[in-house]
Amino acid sequence: MSGLHKCSSILVTGASRGIGLHLVETLMKSKPRPGKVIAAARDRSRAKELNRLAESHPDLYIVTLDVTNKDDIKAAFKEVESLVGDKGLNCLVNNAGIKLDSTLNEVTAEEMMKNFEVNTVSPLMVTKAFLPLLRKAAKQGTGMGIHRAAIVNVSSMLASIQLNWGEGTKEKWYPYHVSKTALNMVTRCLSSDLLGEGILCMSLCPGWVKTDMGGPQAQLTKEESIDNILKLISNLSEKDNGGFLNHTGETLPW
Ligand code: NDP
Repeated sequence: MSGLHKCSSILVTGASRGIGLHLVETLMKSKPRPGKVIAAARDRSRAKELNRLAESHPDLYIVTLDVTNKDDIKAAFKEVESLVGDKGLNCLVNNAGIKLDSTLNEVTAEEMMKNFEVNTVSPLMVTKAFLPLLRKAAKQGTGMGIHRAAIVNVSSMLASIQLNWGEGTKEKWYPYHVSKTALNMVTRCLSSDLLGEGILCMSLCPGWVKTDMGGPQAQLTKEESIDNILKLISNLSEKDNGGFLNHTGETLPW
């Protein structure tokens, strides 16, 4: 895939299952591919498929990272820093997420806070922690994209305030919808704050994908979604900074 080889390093959170795992798996098979693929998983002992993948690809790096855990973030930073060295980190994919799908009658304050913690606060805190490495990479390039420094926040169409309106829309999952809408604002703030340093930030909806979260009825296989995601990520440029894009590259309404 064009562009991937210009990325020296990519870190994907939530790589034990689903979209994160398949993204890492596809990256490892891609030719050309990023120099260093780093998969973050919160509990390696349960990430059986990821461990199997690492057995057949000794150059796949796995780091332990519960995105809600400050000590994990610090330790993962140190590990990634030693892996990427002076080149810094070119691409951070904030993929880890949970979906609490409580409706109005069910929703509790605790569920709202939990989903907000994992889907909104943690991507911001992980990004903040890894900024020194993204900055290091950004200083060495020009333009914008994964050849330089990019943050991809995995969002959802369900974050869209505009699309979540009208008779056709389904039941409202308060914790999930709200947490991803707020994540989009994190994207907008970061993309504005980091623009001057050449660090791109965007929100990406992977589509409705057959994973544990998406369920078996989902429209897309992991393969279909990831092929599109990788094409999109490879070609990110200035015009995508601060954007909210579908996996096909279509701009989604906020
Ligand atoms: P899955 O439920 O299949 O996988 C979620 C991943 O996130 C797992 O690797 C899980 O790790 C990890 N994770 C959850 N909480 C944490 C945490 N605190 N720290 C670190 N990792 C964590 O979901 P998908 O692969 O489907 O979703 C990936 C992303 O895509 C999510 O952000 C989701 O919101 C988004 N998305 C998915 C859609 C879909 O249709 N599937 C649609 C739109 C967006 P563990 O194995 O340890 O639990």
